[in-house]
Amino acid sequence: MLIVGLTGGIGSGKSAAAALFAQRYGVPVIDTDLLAREVVEPGTPALTEIERTFGPEVIEPSGKLDRGEMRRRIFADPQVRSRLEAIVHPRIRALATERIAALNAPYCLLVVPLLVEGDMRAMVDRVLVIDAPPDQQVARVMDRDGNDEALARAIVAAQAERGHRLAVADDVLANDGTLLQLEAAVAELHKHYLSIAQTRECGL
Ligand code: ADP
Repeated sequence: MLIVGLTGGIGSGKSAAAALFAQRYGVPVIDTDLLAREVVEPGTPALTEIERTFGPEVIEPSGKLDRGEMRRRIFADPQVRSRLEAIVHPRIRALATERIAALNAPYCLLVVPLLVEGDMRAMVDRVLVIDAPPDQQVARVMDRDGNDEALARAIVAAQAERGHRLAVADDVLANDGTLLQLEAAVAELHKHYLSIAQTRECGL
């Protein structure tokens, strides 16, 4: 099956675009943010390893990962992030592979917010970048999350540079217009991916 990696900066419209693919055309969508939560649920081997590595203080009394405590540690020591990712990322990839193998569709979307920055690029056949001008990202994030402008700008600035993301894109969805325009762009891309998937199936 053709695997399209859908990525883009925060507030670019990844979730909005993925929802349209799924709702309008029944395209299976696998969201790696959700998988990342799943692999560290209480009782998972990943959570046991996290506890062994970082100590019982990173586990809440309920048995869940204390995300706030993890974030504070990552902020204090960047090495914590790579140690955590070494535990979690291989499991996210394995789960994504398992979920994809169970699908029956011409193509699927693997939503990976940090596809360009991270280590999942090799999992996908094509990269679809949802792109919006940074000012629009900031405005959407302020609107959606109730963040103030300084925080929204800081979050946008901390991610991969727009040009870098666009450089690795096979397809770009310019989401700088209305929701109707987004819908039209999704319709076009859906046709495009169906045709690529069909060509591959024929072995062409
Ligand atoms: P991401 O998943 O990339 O962080 P979202 O899909 O959540 O971004 O979009 C951010 C916000 O902007 C959401 O509230 C969404 O509904 C809104 N949005 C996305 N695209 C458009 C658009 N073309 N026009 C208006 N609002 C949009």
